[in-house]
Amino acid sequence: MKKTTIKSRRVFWLMAILIFVSFIVSSYISINSLSKIIKTSEKELTISIMSQIYNDIGIELTKPIVASQTMAHDLFLKKYLEDPAFPGDSEREEQLINYLKITKEGLDYNTVFAVSDKNGKYYTMDGYNKTVDPDTDAHDIWYKLFVESGLTYDFDVDVDEVHNNEWSVFVNSRVLDENQELIGVCGVGIDMTHLQDILRKYEEQYDIRVNFVDENGLIQIDTDSINIENAVLEEAVPNFNKDKNYTYHEVEDGGYVVSKYIDNFDWYLVVSSKHDNRDMYQDMYNQLALGLAVIFGVLVMAMRMIVQRDRSLLEKESMKDGLTGILNKQAFVNEAMRQSRKKNKVPYAFLFIDIDRFKQVNDSLGHSIGDKAICDVANELKAVFDDDEILGRFGGDEFVVFMNNTLERRVISKLEEFSDRVRMTYSDDENQVTISASIGAVICEHRPATDFVELMNMADEELYKAKENGRNQYRIRKYDE
Ligand code: GH3
Ligand code: MG
Repeated sequence: MKKTTIKSRRVFWLMAILIFVSFIVSSYISINSLSKIIKTSEKELTISIMSQIYNDIGIELTKPIVASQTMAHDLFLKKYLEDPAFPGDSEREEQLINYLKITKEGLDYNTVFAVSDKNGKYYTMDGYNKTVDPDTDAHDIWYKLFVESGLTYDFDVDVDEVHNNEWSVFVNSRVLDENQELIGVCGVGIDMTHLQDILRKYEEQYDIRVNFVDENGLIQIDTDSINIENAVLEEAVPNFNKDKNYTYHEVEDGGYVVSKYIDNFDWYLVVSSKHDNRDMYQDMYNQLALGLAVIFGVLVMAMRMIVQRDRSLLEKESMKDGLTGILNKQAFVNEAMRQSRKKNKVPYAFLFIDIDRFKQVNDSLGHSIGDKAICDVANELKAVFDDDEILGRFGGDEFVVFMNNTLERRVISKLEEFSDRVRMTYSDDENQVTISASIGAVICEHRPATDFVELMNMADEELYKAKENGRNQYRIRKYDE
């Protein structure tokens, strides 16, 4: 029994460790693959969002390029700009203003402008604005930079002095004479708020940050105007290499940055996310720990149940007589004493039974037939007495019975029945032995016995008398008398 118990515990722990380990391994694998899936889908989603932004903004910024370039090739404008006295007399000035006005109305931009390189005069659709002088007015530096850049057109983010100093994106175009000499700069200014609205739509929908920045990371377009030409996207700059593909980089705090170079504008489109997946992973690990705690709890409970079951099995086994399966002497005495102390169990009876001339069975038929006879007697006891009546084997051919709540006539009837049934005959080819039983019974009718040992001794005395009297009989005595 002990060996089986230890073995079953070993198997249990082995299974427990296996369940535990497989739970940890499978959780680790699923968290890992989930995190890969999340990262890949995050990357793919961001790239698809960026291509939508690129399209939307691309359309908004390509139109002014076309408008600015169309103006730069307009012979009417060229004719004006070639004049060193640009725009000459007031009639011509009016014609130019009208030209700029009509262009603006047709294209619906904030500003349409033209500057003469010869005298720096700067006209918008509202009329003469100023004379551009990059050497004395810092605000005019854009002109010098653009002229020196040699570019056909460029983008310049600047506050629009004509429109309450609001942020605009100017598309400047170089105007050349027939000898390809620079005669001026013209272009259009787009309202920054319109571009910001487009970016804001994406930022709010996807919880991301969208920017257009120059090669130094200096912000050109941002939904927060305070950052324009003011803040730098430092985490994006290390990835800038004029790559027109989308470059994806994770940043230290759990977010990511995706950038793409747009050669039309010489800017980078940058989408960054501060999405911190660490909280999500923390949640997953917490749940894993919870799962482990639950499994551990269940295992401990199961183990305790197994230990208790083993213990009670062991206890039960240790109470039984090995040959017959009924209670052994110690267990019987404990149980009978416990019952006899209860007041509501009176009247009760204690029976002492000994098989008559049992040695003959052993001697003439062999020990194994003797064993069988002992088992048969135990079975007869089980058949005659009720389940709540306590049966025991005191050893050898001695049996005991404790009967609860029972009157004398029932004791007698049971004694009669048992005595009849126990008269069993065993034989082999040569010998035949019929056994019988001598029984000493003591009945406690009115009060429980104060001394259980005394009760057993009294029953033993009655048994002795039955033997003396010729065996195969029972004798009854009242404890109370
Ligand atoms: P009595 O009528 O006076 O009771 O005579 P008896 O032959 O029955 O003698 P007693 O009760 O004193 O002896 C019982 C015998 O039972 C003694 C022993 O050899 C035998 N015995 C004891 N335990 C076992 C057992 O487990 N198996 C077998 N086969 N015999 C047993
Ligand atoms: Mg005997």
